Amino acid sequence: MRKQVIAGNWKMNKTHREAEDFIQTAKNEVPSSDKVESVVCAPFPFLQKLVEETEGTSLKIGAQNMHFEESGAFTGEVSPVMLKELGVTYVVLGHSERREVFNETDEDINKKVHAAFKHGLTPIICVGETLDQREADQTMNHVESQVKKALEGLTNEQCADVIIAYEPIWAIGTGRTATAEQANEVCAHIRETVSNYVNADAADAVRIQYGGSVKPANVDEMLSQSDIDGALVGGASLEADSFLKLVEAGK
Ligand code: 13P
Repeated sequence: MRKQVIAGNWKMNKTHREAEDFIQTAKNEVPSSDKVESVVCAPFPFLQKLVEETEGTSLKIGAQNMHFEESGAFTGEVSPVMLKELGVTYVVLGHSERREVFNETDEDINKKVHAAFKHGLTPIICVGETLDQREADQTMNHVESQVKKALEGLTNEQCADVIIAYEPIWAIGTGRTATAEQANEVCAHIRETVSNYVNADAADAVRIQYGGSVKPANVDEMLSQSDIDGALVGGASLEADSFLKLVEAGK
């Protein structure tokens, strides 16, 4: 029985005050449950405060990116050591916006996944195809390749512990959600990829989220699919009420 993970990805949104208001509303409302983990992935400047304020609650805090190096001359970067020290527990890696806008490669992402495990952070690894790739029938090959490259060199146990977020790029922020069947088909393929590349136990344990225009109105259908174990949510995670509805669906 895999525990669902509902994660909000705020992206580059919110003022400090708005972040604070959200957390005050949400922190005591998220359920402590065997069935669902609730995570907010916030911009770096808010992390310390959010971690402090959610201490002792069931709401966990994640970062949206990090560098793979531990320290050094990398102006503008944030290291896994810094995140761990703050008490952050999750980190989103390889989001399509990082891949597309900031030219992150599969190799960078693989290094970041290794760095996350080295420092006790749980990676949420994002994969997903463009509309062109979907129309050219390349979705499965593309996603499979992204998954294998992200997991390269990890132990079997680490592969079982990652969270993989399937986010079709054409469904992100567009209001155009993949159908639950489309989403599940790819998530099932990701699980099969983990089974072949690692082993059946890792495939059984690995949690696979769907992301792309998830909202309270469609989350139930997504979570009812056989291979979808949660959601990574942008727009609909920005308001506490909406985020709490998503978490409720996971419960
Ligand atoms: P939306 O939920 O706004 O489509 O964003 C999805 C996403 O990119 C989450 O990481």
